[in-house]
Order: sequence, then structure tokens, then C-alpha cells
Amino acid sequence: MKRAVYPGSFDPVTRGHLDIIERAAALVDELVVGVLNNNAKIPLFSVEERVNMLNEVIRHIPNVRVEAFSGLSVDFVKSCGARFIVRGLRAVTDFEYELQMAQTNRSIDREIDTLFFTTALQYAYISSTIVKEVAFYGGDISGFVPECVVSHIERRISEKQRENKV
Ligand code: ADP
Repeated sequence: MKRAVYPGSFDPVTRGHLDIIERAAALVDELVVGVLNNNAKIPLFSVEERVNMLNEVIRHIPNVRVEAFSGLSVDFVKSCGARFIVRGLRAVTDFEYELQMAQTNRSIDREIDTLFFTTALQYAYISSTIVKEVAFYGGDISGFVPECVVSHIERRISEKQRENKV
């Protein structure tokens, strides 16, 4: 069974992420989307919320499942019985970091390879950070994230804005 893991923060999942998920899922028997519980970042959504949103948007792809993880990606990949890590490359700016990560992971475990997907051009500029910023200033984010995710973001941002006012 050819299994791959697509690890990331997905805070929140964007149309760019979904495009990579669809294309990677077509290439392997099973794709596990790994949602990183990263203590170094303060996320907008909890890991559980990110997993739930991803589960909503991947419903139409039968060979994809979503799991939360913490720690090293390679350890998670191994625990899933996978050999491949999937990552997306948006621009040259992603390249240096992604190359470093892929080489580090390979030096930790020789059996694990990273597969890079180049972003669909229409999503190349989208990042979770940009989406949050646009939403924060009341902009339209419907072109950037899957439809069912829009209301989750808008609700959370307005909660945050209300909290900050008191
Ligand atoms: P991380 O915090 O690990 O970078 P992200 O959720 O930001 O997690 O991204 C996970 C992966 O998805 C990374 O490989 C990133 O390059 C890729 N990615 C992010 N946004 C897009 C996009 N718009 N199109 C394609 N790939 C993307």
C-alpha cells in the first residue's frame, strides 16, 4: 500500500492546501493529512477545530484521512506506516526552507522521501496567514478558503475582536 503524509499547520485549511490534497490523493493509495500541534505558534484554531474543518473539506475524497500529531514529522510518518511526505511549493521563498526540511528528514530516516507539488497558479499567493489578515480587516475570503470554512473563520475573528475590545 502506497501511503503518504501531508503535514502542516492548516490554521486554517485553504483552497491551496485542498488542491495539494486532491492531487496527492490521486497519486497514492492513502493520504494522511497530519495536523501539527505546534507549541511554538499561537494558532487561531485549536488542533481539534483544524482537524474538524479538514474533515469537512475532504469528505469527497475517499482515500484521505486526517489526524493530529505533535513531535517530529518523520516519527508521525513512520507511525502511519507511510514512506512519503507531501509538501507544497508556492514560490522560490518556500524553496529554501522546504529543501532544508526535506534534507533534514531524509538524514533522520533514509527511507522517507519528500514529494513536492507545485501550487496551482490561481492559489500560489494564498497562505493561512494572509487569509486571517484579510478576514481581520473584513475582506472577502471566499476565494481563498473552501466555502464551509469561511463562516468558521469569520466567527472566530469576530470573537477575537470582541475579546480585544473588553
Ligand atoms: P506549515 O506551518 O507546516 O508551513 P502550512 O499549513 O502553512 O504549514 O502549509 C503546509 C504545506 O502546504 C506546506 O508545504 C506549504 O508550502 C503548503 N501550502 C501552503 N499554502 C499553499 C498553497 N496556497 N498552495 C499550495 N501549497 C500550499
